[in-house]
Amino acid sequence: MRLPINSETTAHSVLRRFIALLLVLAVAFAAGYFLPAEEDASEETLLDPILSFFRPAKAYAETPSDVPAYVRVGLYYGNTAKTSVTLGCAGGFFLGSGGNWGFTKDVSLEGYPQITFTASGGVITGVDGNGTAVASNVASGVCVWPASGGRVTITAGSSTKTYRGGVILYAWENSLTVVNLVGIEQYLYGVINAEMYYTNPEEALKAQAVAARSFACVAQNTHKAYGFDVCSTTHCQVYRGVSGETTATTAAVDATKGQCVRYNGQVVRTYYSSNNGGWIMDIKDAWGSTSPYCLAKEDPYTPVLAWNAVLTYDEIAQRLNAIGRGVGTVTSVDVTKRTDYGYVTELTITGTERTTVFTRSQILNDFAAPLMKSQNFILIDNTKEAMLYTISEGAASEGETAEENAAAEPVVSSTTGTVTVLSGDGTAAELSTSELSVQGESQTVQIPTTAEISGVKSVCFYGSGNGHSVGMSQDGAKEMAKQGFTFDEILKFYYSGTEVY
Ligand SMILES: [Zn+2]
Repeated sequence: MRLPINSETTAHSVLRRFIALLLVLAVAFAAGYFLPAEEDASEETLLDPILSFFRPAKAYAETPSDVPAYVRVGLYYGNTAKTSVTLGCAGGFFLGSGGNWGFTKDVSLEGYPQITFTASGGVITGVDGNGTAVASNVASGVCVWPASGGRVTITAGSSTKTYRGGVILYAWENSLTVVNLVGIEQYLYGVINAEMYYTNPEEALKAQAVAARSFACVAQNTHKAYGFDVCSTTHCQVYRGVSGETTATTAAVDATKGQCVRYNGQVVRTYYSSNNGGWIMDIKDAWGSTSPYCLAKEDPYTPVLAWNAVLTYDEIAQRLNAIGRGVGTVTSVDVTKRTDYGYVTELTITGTERTTVFTRSQILNDFAAPLMKSQNFILIDNTKEAMLYTISEGAASEGETAEENAAAEPVVSSTTGTVTVLSGDGTAAELSTSELSVQGESQTVQIPTTAEISGVKSVCFYGSGNGHSVGMSQDGAKEMAKQGFTFDEILKFYYSGTEVY
């Protein structure tokens, strides 16, 4: 993927651009015009607003730092790129260049509270609310910054959203890639509530803020091909701009300003997921890479989040065909490797034509997504007539103990009247269902009917957790905060051998 650039590529145009750039730079230096982005840049207009100007997408070296001042967040790109986008700001705009160092002003368009930018042949044109051209032949990569430090509204199609910072526009033929250039702390304001709801304990929100900041630092240039750092979806971190901000999450960002999780002084890639099912997974068991701070460790804080999925052999065959990994008619589904802490790292499906093996996170992401919630599961193949049971939450009625409820309405039943139990050494014992009891609060046991066992060929997955289970478990962080742990204690628990500063 090429970085979108101005479509003019002849030697002549390059020379023209170079000369124009020199002129812009000379004027800018003469005027002392390199401003910190957040400051009010209200000097008189230096250049005619109706101007053709040229500059390469990257005019200046970006500040080498592990905590960038600014983050480039992709909003519309690839198949969501727009043919036009309307920017609004009561005080009008400046045009210039932007990057992780901030914004550099070239042109003032302060008299224009609304500008619609359109791409055509790799070149950007801007018109005001009356349709009058205010910027023509603008090079791809231009940064549009709200004047007077205001916020910018971005209208694309029927959607209008408000953002802090400015907007970088890349033209690729007739489509616009739209990027929000925003201070890293202000970016986090729009992230935290989307990743961890604002009602959670303060220390958990602060841990989330530091994890999200660290991730943003390390994730610079994740989407380099499109000219930005992070996208606004779960692929990187969910970001909703100003509409995603809350008082509590903004306070968590402010209280931890600039702090990151570090290993040997370096900011670490702080993977986190919703619920790890009871163990922090070693990164090598998820993605095959190794990391000294993403090690396996029992997690006593994360509450068990149970899930299950039932798939018939036919459904599995269809899913495999859909992802180009068909095996013909499925004949068996087996867990063929587990970590020593019990998480599945290899799932093998054999069919009449071939065998296909899903390893590590492929099990979660490729095989039967999104039914598979974690790599922490047991698999029961009904075609092998295993006796299947689930433990799910139930509750006694009001004024009734769980024991009374169980006595009145036995929840364990079997059409055969017996259940076989295997002990650890493999000894089988047959129990009548009336002898069964389940330890734990408000739990019930369900036995499938004979029809489920002998009928359609299927497998059942019974698991716990939700997500990749590497690094911080958000549910565990919430529980630790409830138990009185501070945000840095939470982070140091989940990221082995790290410091927070
Ligand atoms: Zn992304």
